[in-house]
Amino acid sequence: MVSLTERFRFGSVEAINGSNGARFPFCNSILVGGRPAALIDPGAGPAALEPLVEGVGVVLNTHYHFDHISANHLFPRARLLINEVEAADFRSRAGIAGRLGVSVAYGPDGVAHWLDDVRQPGERPPAVTPHARHEWWLSTGRVDGTYPFDREFDLGDTTVVMVHTPGHTAGYCCPYFPHEGLVYAGDYDLTGFGPWYAGADGDPAAMEASARRLAELDAAHFVTGHQEGVLGRAEFLGRLTDYVAVIHRRDDIYLALVREGRDFTGIIEAGVLYPARYHGDPWVAMWERLTAAKHLARLRAAGWAVPPVPPEFDGAGGAQAWSAGV
Ligand SMILES: [Zn+2]
Repeated sequence: MVSLTERFRFGSVEAINGSNGARFPFCNSILVGGRPAALIDPGAGPAALEPLVEGVGVVLNTHYHFDHISANHLFPRARLLINEVEAADFRSRAGIAGRLGVSVAYGPDGVAHWLDDVRQPGERPPAVTPHARHEWWLSTGRVDGTYPFDREFDLGDTTVVMVHTPGHTAGYCCPYFPHEGLVYAGDYDLTGFGPWYAGADGDPAAMEASARRLAELDAAHFVTGHQEGVLGRAEFLGRLTDYVAVIHRRDDIYLALVREGRDFTGIIEAGVLYPARYHGDPWVAMWERLTAAKHLARLRAAGWAVPPVPPEFDGAGGAQAWSAGV
């Protein structure tokens, strides 16, 4: 493993180290050289990105999550492109809340409250999640176009394929640079936390299937979105297997809680995804519930008798379920 202590260059493609070791809410960004240059996922932080403002003509977001879009607003003259699955919701902003799970957990009033909150400028007190950050407002609402999935197109001085890898979000994709043999694996980040599919449009089975797609790409190097940095193929694929196995480990943990006789509330209190001390954060609370509901649905489908799930969370999760409450 090579940490991204500085920029890492593969031909005309550079990996840019995110602030604070690219820990959430920062991420490693990708700069594609050219006139103009292209920037993928501007979440590396202002210190790394502000020097690039003049030269970047196009910004691509692999998905709508805060840590991958937060500095879109630093590039007002660049064209902003996102995937076709998420573009309309990115434009409306309310649709982002739907995909994150706000409409499932807190209903239409919760979505309206969120929009009012993030519309206000100013710093916010530190919080576990970036739910109230004004950059949500600044960096969404505008989309200048969409990029295609799974088709090679010109970007800067090279070409890229935005490989559709749903699961983390429904529109999530991993940029693959065939000439450089490089994949930006983004939120297949291999961190000890494990795969994240807690949003209303996240899907653990799809995230596992998409990992198999990543493994089939002809690439010698993979760049993670957080912490790890640049990995060679063998190390990345080996660790990817362990990373995806966390999904099944969570199944086992939820099954053990069910067999203890816990109800849904008792299962949430166990804090399988996030320690209970963080559950006061409204987004942590909704993601803990959404994740539990998804795993209980998997256990139910496998024939286990599971406790009832609150109606708003029952069936939540997956590519389509989120839209009902928006
Ligand atoms: Zn993400």
